[in-house]
Amino acid sequence: MLKRMENSDITEQLECQVRNMLVRIQRVEKVGEEDVVLAQAKWRTLDILVLPHSIIFSDRDGVDEGEGGEGVEGGDGGDGGREEVYISGESYIQHGRVDNLLWIQAIPKINTRRVYIQVSVEGERTDIENIHNALSRFRKPGRKPLLVFINPFSGTRRGLEKWKTVAGIVSGSGLEYKEIITEKRNHARDLIQNMDLDLYSGVVTVSGDGLIHEVLNGLSMREDWEERRRKFPIGFVPGGSGNAIHCSLLYQQDEDFRDELLVSSLNLSRGVSKPGDYLECETEEKSFLSMFGVAWGLVPDCDLGSEVIRWAGFLRVYIWLLFRILNPTFYRGYVHYLPLQPDTEKPYPLPDIHQPVPKHWTSIQGDFLTVYALRQSWVDYSTQILDDARLDDGIIHLVIVRVLSRVEMLNWFLGLGNHKDTNHGLTTIIPVSAFRFEMENINDPLTVDAERLTCKKVQGRIIPSGLRLLVKEDTQENQVNQENQENKENKENKENKEKKEDKENKNTQENQENKNTQENQENIDNLR
Ligand code: ADP
Ligand code: MG
Repeated sequence: MLKRMENSDITEQLECQVRNMLVRIQRVEKVGEEDVVLAQAKWRTLDILVLPHSIIFSDRDGVDEGEGGEGVEGGDGGDGGREEVYISGESYIQHGRVDNLLWIQAIPKINTRRVYIQVSVEGERTDIENIHNALSRFRKPGRKPLLVFINPFSGTRRGLEKWKTVAGIVSGSGLEYKEIITEKRNHARDLIQNMDLDLYSGVVTVSGDGLIHEVLNGLSMREDWEERRRKFPIGFVPGGSGNAIHCSLLYQQDEDFRDELLVSSLNLSRGVSKPGDYLECETEEKSFLSMFGVAWGLVPDCDLGSEVIRWAGFLRVYIWLLFRILNPTFYRGYVHYLPLQPDTEKPYPLPDIHQPVPKHWTSIQGDFLTVYALRQSWVDYSTQILDDARLDDGIIHLVIVRVLSRVEMLNWFLGLGNHKDTNHGLTTIIPVSAFRFEMENINDPLTVDAERLTCKKVQGRIIPSGLRLLVKEDTQENQVNQENQENKENKENKENKEKKEDKENKNTQENQENKNTQENQENIDNLR
């Protein structure tokens, strides 16, 4: 049973209360190899997910399922001994009779790892109501369902299984979703072009970077794209092999890759979106968008070549890479770029692809091992190429690796996992606003978002903050927001108190004046 609390101090003590509840149940969770004793742990953030209506009060004779929905909160009980029933999803009632129960999911970050905890808090009705009200900032009632595309064949074919884990948490936050399992390549792209997206609050892909590419390009083919891109966020559940975009997001969020599904669940459930950049690209034949990047040479050769050994997961690329080092190929052509422009907020126009690049661009001719117009800091779970790329930094990171000897290549390969080694003599990383690759040989390996591309010329530019992404607040932001909220509430409480005191003073003054007037009157009367 919870201690009875006053309304006014609930919000202030909220974090503490929930944490204490968690600690009191003395639950020890397995996190990877480590056991975490909640009582002794260092709590970095307490990410709570609460159902929009998670208070369930039982009927004396059994559980009444009631109506649910926005309008039922509050009230003083009903007829025939029934108290109140707030239901947010039938599954929560399936456990049988419940009494004044609050069901909370928390995914706290303890030390460096996330832990998933479900807490059912039983208590006196007023306490439960108060806690629920105080937790209101963790819930977003009235969100439309998410549209979810799942590629059952991505990665090592565990996409559906991974989605089930995430879906459980997402629905536990009161959010509904519509699942579409893709049946073939470009299925998601073709569907999203013509769907009524007003029914949904955002789109989610469960796959790797390829399905994100499909969905982004499908969206861009819609008539309402310009409006849609600013308000229809895209979310990700990592279900592919490399998941470059998701790994880079985890890195930016300071999360452990092993907690990817928990973090993804939080990102989808919090109802928060953030801006993200994308690349607008074109060849002589077509145009398309990208979130990951355009690669030429060895990297795409490994991505495409290693498709035949998919069973090896993301390591497939490295097996292929080692094989390639023994038979190196170099790729001849030009790399042109527009150095990063001072105003990173606005996109720069691309030149006509049939014409030479403008004079203020820089051009390099040569034999390249690989060239990458890259947007993400990690290219898979083990290789970080960029130190500080962010989803909305407004920069294309142009990575150029020149000809290497076999020994140098081996060293380069061994140093790949350590990003600090990538900026050595033969590897250059240049921040740019636009790029063009011109291949001497049309058959050179070339990819966009790790998907094959065939052309002799490709160019692209950055569209800064052109999209919305389903990404929760940063841990720090979260803490700051909570502090701000608490400060605001403290301030409001203080102001209310002051107002009350003012009013009381005024009343006393008025009373005094009335009294004085009355006394004066009496005096006058007496004088008469
Ligand atoms: P991975 O990381 O495993 O490569 P991706 O998301 O990149 O995962 O997807 C790989 C490819 O599968 C993409 O080209 C995507 O368009 C395609 N695809 C999506 N759904 C299906 C499906 N049902 N069957 C076959 N291919 C699909
Ligand atoms: Mg892929």
